[in-house]
Amino acid sequence: MRWIDRLLIAGLLLNLAILFFSSTSDWRIYYYYKYHDATSLPLISPVDPANQTLSFEDTYGAFREPNRLHQGVDLFCELSTPVKNVHPGVLIKKHVDRLGGKSLWILGLDNRLYYYAHLNQYGDCQAGDHIKCGDIIGFAGNSGNALHTPVHLHFEIMVIERLFPFKKSNVNPFPELQKLVQPSEFETVADNTHQ
Ligand SMILES: [Zn+2]
Repeated sequence: MRWIDRLLIAGLLLNLAILFFSSTSDWRIYYYYKYHDATSLPLISPVDPANQTLSFEDTYGAFREPNRLHQGVDLFCELSTPVKNVHPGVLIKKHVDRLGGKSLWILGLDNRLYYYAHLNQYGDCQAGDHIKCGDIIGFAGNSGNALHTPVHLHFEIMVIERLFPFKKSNVNPFPELQKLVQPSEFETVADNTHQ
């Protein structure tokens, strides 16, 4: 047996072992993960870039009390601003907890996991639904540990390993968001690169 086959079998067995102990939402990630035909489409901003109240900065990796690092970017806006799905995919779960408040997880067709937190309300969508790019999935708020902060959408992007879909690694969404919110500036940069 070739070493690559052994590696694949070992990966498969490990995933099966982990599946055995994982939650329904993890099962859903396995089910909808694109093993062969992942499609990466251009993102849209989760909050309308034309929204005058929208503001955000690069706080990815910033220290947060008591001992953790900020895993995403906070998009400040008015209460109940519509939150849009940034990339077509499947709603993995809606979840309410102390940290993220009303939150939801969408697995994009690009195999990345998109996390939206501190919502005031959910949109008209359920776990397992296929969600189009631009669909309204919720409304901005300050639920969870954002209760005493100004209203904002906490937004994360996670990359999932091909052999180990249970392993999620955060990436900084700021560079991508910045391009979406200031497209004219981005186009200028792109134009310059062509010359
Ligand atoms: Zn945040």
